[in-house]
Amino acid sequence: MTVRKVIIQVRLNEGMPKQGNPNTPYSPEEIAHAAIACHRAGAAVVHYHARDPHSGAASSSVELYAEVVRRIRQECDLIVMPTLGASMLPTAEERLAHIVAMAKDPATKPDAIPVDMLTTNLDRYDRDRKDFVTEDRVYLNTTRMLKYLCRTARDIGVKPASMMWDVAGVRLTEAFLDMGLYQEPLFCEIPLFRDGFESFGHPATAEGMDALLRFFPPGADWQWFTDTTGGNDFPVATLALARGGHVCVGLGDHHYAELGCPTNAQLVERIVDLAKLMGREVASTSEAREMLGFK
Ligand code: ZN
Repeated sequence: MTVRKVIIQVRLNEGMPKQGNPNTPYSPEEIAHAAIACHRAGAAVVHYHARDPHSGAASSSVELYAEVVRRIRQECDLIVMPTLGASMLPTAEERLAHIVAMAKDPATKPDAIPVDMLTTNLDRYDRDRKDFVTEDRVYLNTTRMLKYLCRTARDIGVKPASMMWDVAGVRLTEAFLDMGLYQEPLFCEIPLFRDGFESFGHPATAEGMDALLRFFPPGADWQWFTDTTGGNDFPVATLALARGGHVCVGLGDHHYAELGCPTNAQLVERIVDLAKLMGREVASTSEAREMLGFK
């Protein structure tokens, strides 16, 4: 039996502050520079959030999002998956607006978007204070909104990636495949969560991952990644490598002070080494494009 090659995705920044690791990129220049370095180290997919270049605050500026893709495209064929971000925006149209604008120009068109297959509370727990940081953050994704995101992405030539936070997300993904809103090979991801994220998702453990994998339809062509929000990516990456999955790593998940505050590219180098140790060859970007069903 041939072992499937592993696709490495780097999650460059999310909402993480430079205070924890100064290598966390904010500006389009920093984000694109980090992405290109990660590509050279072995990553095939890049996920990023646009940030205010000075404060690091989340931004929904089309120009900041587009400038990242423009710079990456000049250097390499990385698969680019910007966030829809701004999860508290009330409508799917607003959440997708920057993607629709970017897709109009081949120089800034992204390849994929993440679609979160659930509605959930999104409040962080503070164990020291013994209370939640917020109490009213509802991440709303009605069925109508999810259909809009998938259908519009398909219409503008961007691949929707199914983010399955729980077993219901797996079943909802099957229904969306049945409706033609997703297509195989399915680009999908199991986001797992560490401490502070108790009110949603599954824990970043073998049990948390396997609970979803058990419901994957047998024989289906689901190209699945895992990621670890709020913690070190390597334990879950090791589990995914052993199970034939694809992996995420990056400063968006964790500062990695214990590794001396590395760059994103240095984290990718370590994941490449880990994959090789475990007998998994690393997919090139063109191989990843074929495995994930990009034309
Ligand atoms: Zn993200």
